[in-house]
This record gives sequence, structure tokens and C-alpha cells, in this order.
Amino acid sequence: MVLCTRCGKEKAIIHVRHKNICLCKKCFITYFNTKAEETLKKAGILDNISGKSITVAVSGGKDSLNTLYLMKKLAEKYGFEVNALLINEGIRGYREFTIKAFLNHVKNLRLDYTIVDLKKELGFTVDEAAKLFFQGKIEWRPCTVCGITRRYLLNKYSRELGATYLATGHNLDDEVQTVVMNILRGDIQALVRGGIVVRAEHRKLVSRIKPLHYIYERESLVHALATGIKTPYVECPYAPLSLRWSIREFLNKIEAEKPGFKYRLLVRTDELRERLRGKVRVVEFTECKICGEPSSKDVCKTCEIKLKLNNLLSTVSN
Ligand code: SF4
Ligand code: ZN
Repeated sequence: MVLCTRCGKEKAIIHVRHKNICLCKKCFITYFNTKAEETLKKAGILDNISGKSITVAVSGGKDSLNTLYLMKKLAEKYGFEVNALLINEGIRGYREFTIKAFLNHVKNLRLDYTIVDLKKELGFTVDEAAKLFFQGKIEWRPCTVCGITRRYLLNKYSRELGATYLATGHNLDDEVQTVVMNILRGDIQALVRGGIVVRAEHRKLVSRIKPLHYIYERESLVHALATGIKTPYVECPYAPLSLRWSIREFLNKIEAEKPGFKYRLLVRTDELRERLRGKVRVVEFTECKICGEPSSKDVCKTCEIKLKLNNLLSTVSN
């Protein structure tokens, strides 16, 4: 039996490889919570937050359920409001399970929540978009349609809910994948804009924060198990089609050979971001002439997707 490195008394439940420490259930939960709180403190998020409101974007997966759990604890400590927001993209065989977990979790935490339906909002589901992609009628992969429209609705609804910040459940593994994707795309603006907090660059944008920025996916899984958070272990059927999926596999191989590689890469990238901030031109936002939401072009990408998909779907149904 391996004993906890911190307390030296209890049986360890996890080896935190990048720190080379073994932690028991109690010490691990403390480590997890402290890490997330320090991450937000470092970014200045918890300064003057009393009386304000934070909306948590929840999918029903372990990371977003953990984020909601953490934010509820921090809300009690720092005196801010917290509520949950879920976008139902219409992915059968996946989303219905995560919605069930979401409803169970918000009920346990006694939090207000909002569910926004993509079909009602924009006229299509991600399943319908995927079908059109497989038929060769659109070039956007399911994850592209899903990612763009979900970001759009999360921003719109969190703003309408009066949120000062929108918290998301991105963990360290997600963050490192995004860094590599931005580098591969040559998108230096996105690379510099990322990090623990993505500041709003338009009056209609809500700043996004990532409490799990320095927490490995594996640690997030153990936290959900240790705290009794019930989450379905289902993967979205479209995930393997994305570039992110290939990058994830590649990074996992390196991490297995060199534990702590992802952590070190993220820390170095965050240092680089600090040095480059103010030196790289920021994206200039205007308002979409169709929907009025922030956009870098005359017509936002969501309206472009909506027009094309609604057109194709009405042709199919006629
Ligand atoms: Fe959406 Fe892709 Fe994530 Fe599935 S894997 S929920 S399609 S972004
Ligand atoms: Zn628009």
C-alpha cells in the first residue's frame, strides 16, 4: 500500500505524476480545489468578484461538472453568484445522457440553470449538420459547426444572464491541444489570446475563464470519482473526426514517455503569452449585420452556417 505523500497516514488514490506525489482522497480533493483557486487568483479573477455573477458552461461531462462544483464552493467563499448553462446541440446517443447528469448535478448543488436548444435557436441540430457533411453537401465538419454555434450561444446567453465571466471546463490536456492546433494553423492571435482568461474584446463579449487550466484530464476524472460526481462515460460520436482527436493521441504518446511534458509546455506557453501580449495585433470586432452579435466580419460565422444549413434542410424537406 502506498501512503499519501502529504498526510503520511492514508492510502494514496492517485500518483500526480508531474509533481511526483501520491495523494489520498482527502489530500487530493484539497490539492484539486487549491490548484483551481490559485489559478483564478493568479489571473485576478477573484479580486472584486463579490456581488457579481459567473455562468458556468456545462456539458454534463466530468470536467464541466467538476467546474460547476468548484465554482459553487468559491461562490460561497468569495460572495458571488453562480449559475449553469447547457447547450443542447442535438447529438443522439450522447447528449441525452450528459443532460441527465447535468440535471442531477444542478439539483444536488441547488443551482439555477438554463438549457438552450440549438434546433430552436438556429433551426438545425449537429446530427443534421453531420448528415449533410457525410453527404458531401457542406464542408464544415460536425465539430466545426458544433464549436462555432455553441460558443456563439454560450456568449449570448451568459451575457443575457448578466455574467461577468463565463467559466468553462477546459482542462490542461484540452488547453495543450489548443496550443498545438493554433501553432499548426499559424494562428498567433488565437495563441496569444488564450490562457486562464480570455478577455472580452467587444462590449457584447463575455470574458471566459478556465479554472481547470492547470489540471490534467486524469486528475479531473479522479476528482469526479472521489467526490461522487456522477457523469456518463460516453464519448461524442463525432470526436474522432476532428483534428483535435489526432493531436490528443499524439500528445498522449509523448506524455506517456515524458510525464509532465504537457504541463511544462503549457507553463512555457503562458509565459510566452505574457511576453507577447500587447505586441500582437488583436482581432477587431464589429457587429454581425444579420444578428447583431460580435463578429470579425460583416456576417458572423454562425449566421453563415445557419443560412446555408437552413437552406439545404428546407430543400431536403420539400
Ligand atoms: Fe461537438 Fe465535436 Fe465536441 Fe461532439 S466532439 S460535442 S461534435 S465539438
Ligand atoms: Zn450573425
